[in-house]
Amino acid sequence: MAKKDLKWDSIGFAYHVTDKRYVSNYKDGAWDEGGLTDDPNVVVNESAGIMQYCQQVFEGMKAYTWENGDVVCFRPDLNAERMYNSAQRIEMPPVPKEKFLDAIDQVVKGNLDWVPPYGSGASLYIRPYEFATGVVIGVKPADTYQFRVFTTPVGPYYKGGATPIILQVADYDRAAPRGTGAVKAGLNYAMSLHASVLCHKAGYNENLYLDPATRSYVEETGGSNVIFVDKDNTVVVPKSDSILPSITRRSIVYIAEHYLKLKVDERPVKFEELKGFAEAGCCGTAAVISPVGKIVDHDEEINFPSGMDHAGPIISQLYDTITGIQNGRIEAPEGWIRHIA
Ligand SMILES: *Cc1c(COP(=O)(O)O)cnc(C)c1O
Repeated sequence: MAKKDLKWDSIGFAYHVTDKRYVSNYKDGAWDEGGLTDDPNVVVNESAGIMQYCQQVFEGMKAYTWENGDVVCFRPDLNAERMYNSAQRIEMPPVPKEKFLDAIDQVVKGNLDWVPPYGSGASLYIRPYEFATGVVIGVKPADTYQFRVFTTPVGPYYKGGATPIILQVADYDRAAPRGTGAVKAGLNYAMSLHASVLCHKAGYNENLYLDPATRSYVEETGGSNVIFVDKDNTVVVPKSDSILPSITRRSIVYIAEHYLKLKVDERPVKFEELKGFAEAGCCGTAAVISPVGKIVDHDEEINFPSGMDHAGPIISQLYDTITGIQNGRIEAPEGWIRHIA
């Protein structure tokens, strides 16, 4: 056993086949014991619920190596809880929280050689997911399911690190009121791909979605929540039932209040207000926080005072604190870190 010889700082955000993945099957009303396997391929019937009606939910999280050699996970209990809730919304049997956490432990331990070393800026991305294996043709929930967890080493999500990105206001909507916006399900991503391709073709980094009912409030991007900082250094966080409850964003709110002693205002945020703000950022596990320098809505441009060269001061402090906690340089709040190996 030895660390894989990868160029950790330039591996990007891509899939690499690692040694082990976890599999457990649900049948006759119960999950089996589950365990690790070497086979990265999934074989399902042509009419499985996942193939026909996209009955699937997933999670995304990371394992980090600390300076003392410990391998840790950041708040995996919240991923367990969120996938439990997502599964219920998509009529799938939820994976019990303890089973989820045990699967994470097993997969990370089975791929220790793939966990990037301390100081590399890279981490081991963990992808838990559940999908319908049971056969359906009429539209209904399947009767058998599979829960899998695989891992892949990743570098920083946005090439060039924490340099500011540009958001484009999408002409499409992401999540209907009372729809599935707050659920981490593949279906939300399938329907975002067209808008995402158009956004990239137009030269922007990500889409910013507005609330579909009135198109006057800010929701989030395709895969990350957004936060703002106003001119009095208050962290302003959009609130809506159709925003995915990002664990990174919830952690940032705690850090802003308890570590940086900042005011946090979680409320519906009008798009109109954005031009009065000082800083903006996108947050999610993949990129942690990406500073936003500019938002483009057709002919209108919002240029944040923090500019396109570097992150603003508050976003920088939030980024340094949360990554410091994840990498063991700053003491974490009680219960935030799970030591795996
Ligand atoms: C996963 C996800 C996020 C980020 O959530 P984290 O828990 O911080 O990784 C934000 N928005 C959407 C739509 C997501 O799917």
